[in-house]
Amino acid sequence: MMPRTPHTGSYYAATANDKNDRPRLQSAIDCDICIVGAGFTGLSSALHLAEAGFKVVILEGARIGFGASGRNGGQLVNSYSRDIDVIERNYGSELAGALGDMAFEGANIIRERIETYQIQCDYKQGGIFAAFNKKQMHELEEQKARWEKLGNNKLTLLDQAALREHIDTDAYVGALLDNHGGHIHPLNLALGEAAAFESLGGQIFEDSKVIRIDRSPRPVIHTSEGRITCNYLLLAGNAYLGGLVPELAAKSMPCGTQIVTTEILGKDKARSLLPTQHCVEDCNYKLDYYRITGDNRLLFGGGTTYGGGDPASIENFLRPHLEKVFPQLKGVKFDYAWGGDFLLTLSRLPQLGRLTDNIYYAQGYSGHGVTTTHLIGKLMGEVMKGHAERFDAFASLKHFPFPGGHLLRVPYTALGAFYYGMRDKFGI
Ligand SMILES: Cc1cc2nc3c(=O)[nH]c(=O)nc-3n(C[C@H](O)[C@H](O)[C@H](O)COP(=O)(O)OP(=O)(O)OC[C@H]3O[C@@H](n4cnc5c(N)ncnc54)[C@H](O)[C@@H]3O)c2cc1C
Repeated sequence: MMPRTPHTGSYYAATANDKNDRPRLQSAIDCDICIVGAGFTGLSSALHLAEAGFKVVILEGARIGFGASGRNGGQLVNSYSRDIDVIERNYGSELAGALGDMAFEGANIIRERIETYQIQCDYKQGGIFAAFNKKQMHELEEQKARWEKLGNNKLTLLDQAALREHIDTDAYVGALLDNHGGHIHPLNLALGEAAAFESLGGQIFEDSKVIRIDRSPRPVIHTSEGRITCNYLLLAGNAYLGGLVPELAAKSMPCGTQIVTTEILGKDKARSLLPTQHCVEDCNYKLDYYRITGDNRLLFGGGTTYGGGDPASIENFLRPHLEKVFPQLKGVKFDYAWGGDFLLTLSRLPQLGRLTDNIYYAQGYSGHGVTTTHLIGKLMGEVMKGHAERFDAFASLKHFPFPGGHLLRVPYTALGAFYYGMRDKFGI
């Protein structure tokens, strides 16, 4: 027996609800729709498609939730990595209107999935965007006005005193609370969605890395031991797709970000840090994000490694960030530290489209994909039922390669981030 690929050594993998392996693909199968990748993009699409009655097969190169979806901060952040004002400036008001109408749908889809399929993933309502300075606070005020226009009426601005009721820190000048957001144990959400998909007859093959795709009238997808012939193919490998599809690699860049979890703090200590248990992300260009887990640890993430991968010591890298927000946790023991890759695009907006009439792709949520992947899954369901308008709104976004080509894109992007980091530092 060939050994199975393990999950990365995360808190999530240690507390996964379902540790069962799925088989490798070792035969030739025919189906309506084949999906490459069992992250949120693949699973959410698969579930919508199975609900619509399609025969769907997922090929996963490692494990369900092996990529960003099983490793992330678990924050249900609304809208996109670039907000509607930027979309309007760069792409015009019509497209901004179309994307704005969908900006709050992903979080509702997740809540509906949890409810319908009774998924145990520690869901908690409420997310906070925390400002370090007046400039960031002003931007949050504008964000609130924009989001209210789009129908989100669950937003509250918090001054420094009001914020203390939510976070026990002096680090921020104020914040925006979004009660339409929230947080989850992402690997358990992925595993719950996988089980829901399988309960509807869907098949998932793990350790079944796709090594070749024949772009024939009916695409044929090859693994080392089997193949699938399908009417439609969805590529959902995101940052882990590597060079399998050169067109998709050309206009995107993998980036690493890292997370630690403390030892179990106990309910009282955990509540003293985040009394209302909302998750938090700060407003810096390279942001930190954190929340309390279901078993009362502080889960704290941050950093961006352009090009992907992790720093030499995740603990040493993140400890000063954590202790700056919570000096009362100085020296706290970390039980888990891990990293994962997300896929950055130059526009910071997702890339959706078709390589041929029947090969679709969706990727590049730029670090902001928990809700958007769930929206995209619904759009894939719509497309296959003959309603492509909303998918095509995303597909019409123009995307460009990073400056500097493959060799220089990492240093160029890091330089840009350094510039924005300095602006954050000095509040300009
Ligand atoms: C550490 C971290 C923290 C984050 N925190 C947040 C957050 O709090 N909130 C938020 O909104 N977003 C967050 N993100 C981003 C978010 O997790 C991603 O945008 C989202 O999960 C992407 O989902 P996906 O399904 O497209 O990709 P992935 O989850 O990466 O899934 C891709 C899957 O495809 C498989 N695959 C790739 N190539 C092949 C192949 N050739 N054959 C078969 N299978 C293949 C991979 O093994 C993988 O399982 C974070 C990301 C990271 C890494």
